Amino acid sequence: MSLKYTGTQINYYFICKRKLWYFSNYIQMEQESELVELGKFIHESSYPREKKEIRIDNTIAIDFAGNDKIIHEVKKSNKIEKAHIWQLKYYLYYLKQKGIPNVTGELNYPKLKKIEKVSLTDNNEKELKKIFSNIDEIINREVPPSPINKSFCKKCAYYEFCYV
Ligand code: SF4
Repeated sequence: MSLKYTGTQINYYFICKRKLWYFSNYIQMEQESELVELGKFIHESSYPREKKEIRIDNTIAIDFAGNDKIIHEVKKSNKIEKAHIWQLKYYLYYLKQKGIPNVTGELNYPKLKKIEKVSLTDNNEKELKKIFSNIDEIINREVPPSPINKSFCKKCAYYEFCYV
């Protein structure tokens, strides 16, 4: 089972490999591990009967609502939607591995009044395994990948490690 990765690592893999390297090796600007939160959640509520909610970093909410087996993540913007989608697919994979199959996901963008449905296919699972392997290769490098010079770098918590 490949459940050692955090959702943040899957997310950063799509946003910036350098950010993934910093986060995974020694400099974690975001303290809360959503994997720990998710683990607690699963432990407390395999097949929950009531609505549960986990809030992480005040920006991510994972809800497991009643019996409809849909987990929700609330995001502010869809600029990095691919990263959001794969992070959620990873949660679906994680739940499946923990014995909670057939869960689907929804990305909710309240500001955009948009909902993106997310599911986990067999091909996605194969792709996730490649992603895990790529993540291992990246984070085991002795030096981080090069900076990517994107406009969002200025908002990144690791900016000073890349450009100052
Ligand atoms: S500042 Fe840019 S290059 Fe550096 S870690 Fe952040 S996103 Fe990556």
